[in-house]
Amino acid sequence: MKEKEEIKNKLPYILSRNSTNESGFKHTTCLKPFLPEVNDMFADRAKIYVKSGKGGDGHVSFRREKYVPAGGPDGGDGGNGGSVIFEVDEGLNTLTDFRHIRKYCAGNGENGNKKNCRGKNGEDIVLKVPQGTVIKEAESGKVITDMSGDNRRTVLLKGGRGGNGNQHYATSTMQAPKYAQPGQEAKEMELLLELKVIADVGLVGFPNVGKSTFLARVTNARPKIANYHFTTLNPNLGVVDLEDAGGFVIADIPGLIEGASEGIGLGHEFLCHIERTKIIIHIVDAASVEGRDPVADIYAIQKELEAYNPGIAARPQVIAANKMDMFPDSEKESETIRRIRDEFGPKGISVYPISAVSGQGVRELLYAVSNLLAGMDEKTIIFAQEYFPEFKEREEAFTVTYDAEENEYIVEGPRIEKMLGYTNLESEKGFTFFQKFLKENGILEKLEELGIQEGDTVRMYGLSFDYYK
Ligand code: GDP
Ligand code: MG
Repeated sequence: MKEKEEIKNKLPYILSRNSTNESGFKHTTCLKPFLPEVNDMFADRAKIYVKSGKGGDGHVSFRREKYVPAGGPDGGDGGNGGSVIFEVDEGLNTLTDFRHIRKYCAGNGENGNKKNCRGKNGEDIVLKVPQGTVIKEAESGKVITDMSGDNRRTVLLKGGRGGNGNQHYATSTMQAPKYAQPGQEAKEMELLLELKVIADVGLVGFPNVGKSTFLARVTNARPKIANYHFTTLNPNLGVVDLEDAGGFVIADIPGLIEGASEGIGLGHEFLCHIERTKIIIHIVDAASVEGRDPVADIYAIQKELEAYNPGIAARPQVIAANKMDMFPDSEKESETIRRIRDEFGPKGISVYPISAVSGQGVRELLYAVSNLLAGMDEKTIIFAQEYFPEFKEREEAFTVTYDAEENEYIVEGPRIEKMLGYTNLESEKGFTFFQKFLKENGILEKLEELGIQEGDTVRMYGLSFDYYK
C-alpha cells in the first residue's frame, strides 16, 4: 500500500519528461500528467455483489359476480424476478465501472392479483464487461465463467420464478382452493471480476527495458513511453500484421519488478494479464543502460513468473536483447549476446538481438514468434468452470393437519406440490410412486399419528384421496 502511495506521489513529476533518442527516432512523449488514470490503475479487478429478483407470489382470490355467491378462483400468478446477466462489450477495456458501483440488484417480480392478473416481471440487470473478463466466486476464487471466445452473454443468476395463483389449484373436487404458490426466493452472491486480456503474446521484463517502445514499433498501439519506472499502468494491446505470415496480438505487461509476486510494487496486480498468452517475449536491456546485468535481470523476472504461476513460466519464451543501438563497440555487443545465448540457449530459449528504437532485428523476432505460434494450438486459453452456483430452494417440510369441520386431513408443503406436479396419478406407475413418496417422507406415519381411519379423506392441493391401508 505504501508503495502505491509513493508511486502516486511521484507521477506528476516523472511524467513531464521528454526525450529524443540519438538515432533520431522520435517517440511519444508524455507531457500530460495522467493522474486521473491512477484511479484506473487496478481497474483489472473488482469485487461486486449481485442479487437476482425474487419471484412474485401467486394470489388467492375468487370471482365476484352478481347472483353467484362464491365464484371460482381467479388469483393471478406472480411475475418472474429479474436475472443478473453478463454481456461482453467490445468498447470496454477496463473494469473501472465496477470499482465505482459495487452492488447490482435485479428487480423483483410483482405479486399476482385478482381477476387473473399476472404480476409484472422484475427487470433484468445487464452488466457489460470487457472481453476476457473472468467471473469468479469471491470467497473461493473459483471460476464461474470466462467471458471470452463464444461466450458473449451469460445468465449468472436466474431470477426467481413467479408463484402460481390459486386458479391453478382448482379441481372438480376442490373448487375453492385457498392456496397460492409463493414466488421463488432471490439469489445473491459476491463475485470477483478479473480482466485477463486475450493476447497471443505477452511482453515481460523490467521497467524501462523498452516494452512499450517495442509495442509501439510493431503494432498500432500507442502506449506511453518514457524513461522511468512504472511507465505503463494499464496493459496495452496491439496487433502485429505480417505481410506473409500470421498476425498476432501482443500485450505489454506493465510494471513487472522484483518482488512482484509477493505483492511488492505493481507487478502482482498485472501478472494475471499474461495468464492467457501462449508465448512470452522476455525483453531485456542488453546494453545495461540502467547498469544492471541482463542475465541476472532475466533470472529475476523468471523467478517472479515462477512464483506467481509456474504454468506461465513454463510457456514457450524468446528473449529479445534490446537496445543494441546503445553498445559502444561491436566487440562488447557480441560478447553480451554470446553470454545470454550460452546461458539460455541450453534451456531451449532463443535470443534475438534487437533495437526497438532503430528497428534492427525486429523483423526476425516477429517472424520467429509467428512461426512458433503457427505450430501451437490455435485456441485462446479459456478458463473452465470450477464453481457451480447452486441454490437450494427453501423446501420446508410438509405439514399435516386435521380439518375437523370437513373431517378431512390436509397435507401441504412445496415438495408435495412439486411432486404432484410431475406425477401422473392416472397411471398405475405414477400412483405407486405417489404412495411410495408418502411413505418414505413420513407422511403416512404422521397421518396415523393424527388418528386417520380407513376411508377418511386426505386433501392435497385440491386433490382428494381416500385413505386405505
Ligand atoms: P518499458 O518500461 O519497458 O515499457 O520501457 P519504455 O518502452 O518506456 O522505454 C524506456 C526507455 O528506454 C525510453 O526512454 C525508450 O526510449 C528507451 N528505449 C527503449 N528501447 C530502446 C532501444 O532499443 N534503444 C535505445 N537506445 N533506447 C530504447
Ligand atoms: Mg512500458
